[in-house]
Amino acid sequence: MSIKFYNTLSRKLEIFKPIEKKTVKIYSCGPTVYNYAHIGNFRSYIFNDLLRRFLLYEGYKVIQVMNITDVDDKTITGANQQKIPLKEYTDQYTKAFFEDMETLGIEKVEYYPKATDHIDDMIELIRKLEKKGYIYVSEGSVYFKISEFKDYGKLSNIDPKGMKDGVRIDADEYTKDNAKDFVLWKKAKEGEPSWETEYGKGRPGWHIECSAMSFKFLGETFDIHTGGVDLVFPHHENEIAQSEAANEKPFVRYWIHCAHLIVDGEKMSKSKGNYYTLRDLVKKGYSPLAIRYLLLSTHYRKQVNFTSEGLQAAQSAVNRIQNFYINVKEQKTENIVDHKFNQVLKKHTTAFNTALEDDLNISEALGHFFELMTDANKFMTDKKLTESDKRSLLEAIISFNTILNILDTREQDKLPAHLQELIEKREKARKSKDYKLSDELRDRLKEENIILEDTTEGVKWKVLK
Ligand SMILES: [Zn+2]
Repeated sequence: MSIKFYNTLSRKLEIFKPIEKKTVKIYSCGPTVYNYAHIGNFRSYIFNDLLRRFLLYEGYKVIQVMNITDVDDKTITGANQQKIPLKEYTDQYTKAFFEDMETLGIEKVEYYPKATDHIDDMIELIRKLEKKGYIYVSEGSVYFKISEFKDYGKLSNIDPKGMKDGVRIDADEYTKDNAKDFVLWKKAKEGEPSWETEYGKGRPGWHIECSAMSFKFLGETFDIHTGGVDLVFPHHENEIAQSEAANEKPFVRYWIHCAHLIVDGEKMSKSKGNYYTLRDLVKKGYSPLAIRYLLLSTHYRKQVNFTSEGLQAAQSAVNRIQNFYINVKEQKTENIVDHKFNQVLKKHTTAFNTALEDDLNISEALGHFFELMTDANKFMTDKKLTESDKRSLLEAIISFNTILNILDTREQDKLPAHLQELIEKREKARKSKDYKLSDELRDRLKEENIILEDTTEGVKWKVLK
C-alpha cells in the first residue's frame, strides 16, 4: 500500500511521493517564543513528531526544519513590557520550549533556525521580489502587492477579487476578511529592535521568515509544509505568494495541517481559566507520557478534546502497553511447534502499518496494537508462545514504539537521571521527616510507573507492572 496524506492545497487525499526517492524534506512552523507554549501548541508539535517518526519508520531519511520566531509583534511587546532586550526575553522561552519538547518525548529535528539569524536571507528574498515587481514601499515599510500574484488565495480558498489595490496591513496576524497587501519589512519604530538594510532601518514581518529560511535549508521546492489550521490564512497563504512569486515554481507539494485542541469542549482561553501550559499540567501531577498519548492518539485532522477523564484514560492505556511489554519480556516460552502466532502477529502489524499509511490514522493503528495485545495474552495464557514468537513480538512492540514513544524500555538497574534525582530527594525528605513532601514525591514517581519500597537497607524501587 502507498502512503496517503490529505493535502490542504488540493483538498483531497493524495498518494505521497517525495521529490527525491528516499528523502523527505519538511518545513514545520515553530514557536513564537514570547511565552511558555500551551498544550494547543503541543498538539501541533506532537503531530509533527508523529509524521516524522512515521516517515522514518517507513525507511525514509527526513530533513526537517522548524523555525523559531524570535522577532515579531508579540515578542517585541513582551520584551518592552519586561523592559529587557529582545534577545534576553526570547532566549528564556526558547530554552523552555526545548525543555518542554524533551519532556514530551518529541524527537529533535535537523534544523531550528532563528529569524534574527537570517535577516540577510529575508532581504535577499525581498530584493528578488522587487526585481519582479511584487513590492512597493509606503511610509518607509515594504509591502507585497497581492493583486500582482494571480494565485493568491489558492490555499485558504479566499477570492481576492474585490479587494482594493494598495490597502495595506501591518499586523502579523489578521483574518480572511482582512486580506490585504501584507508587510515584508517594517520601518523601525521608537523602542523596537531594528536592522540597518538597503530597505531602511527596520525589522521583518512574520511571514517572510518562513519562506526565506525554508529556501535556505530545503531548496525552492520541497515536499511537506506543516502547521496548525490557524496558520492556513494568512501565514501560509502569504508564504506561497512570496515564494512562488520570487522563484516562479511551486513552493510546497503537500500542505498538511492539524486541527485545534479544545479543553472540556470549549476553546482554550486565559479568560475562561482553561488555558494550560505543559508546565501547569506537570505541576498538577499529570504524567508527560499520558499527555503525549492523549495529544497523539486522536487523528490529526480531528479536534482533540482535552479533559481530565481523557488524561486518565490515556494514563491507563500507557500503563497497559507498558505492562504488556514487561510481561512479554518476562514470559517463559514453550518448546512447541506452532506457527499460528506468526500469522496473528503479521496480521496486526500489517493492519497497524496500513492504518498509518492512510493519512496517519493513529487511532486505528492503536486499535490494532491493542488487538495484538489481547491475542498475544491469550497465547501466553495458553502456553503457546515459543522463543522465536517472543522475539518477533518484542521486536514489533519496540518498532511500534519508535512511532509512539510512550514505552519505558529502561533496564531495571538503570534509571534516567531525573528519576534518580527524585528518589534521592524523596529519601532526604523522608529522613528529615518532611512526610508531606516525601509523599508528594512518591506519588510523582508513581506517575512515572516507579514504585518505592522502604526496606531496612534503604529505599528500593521497581517499575510498576
Ligand atoms: Zn511559518
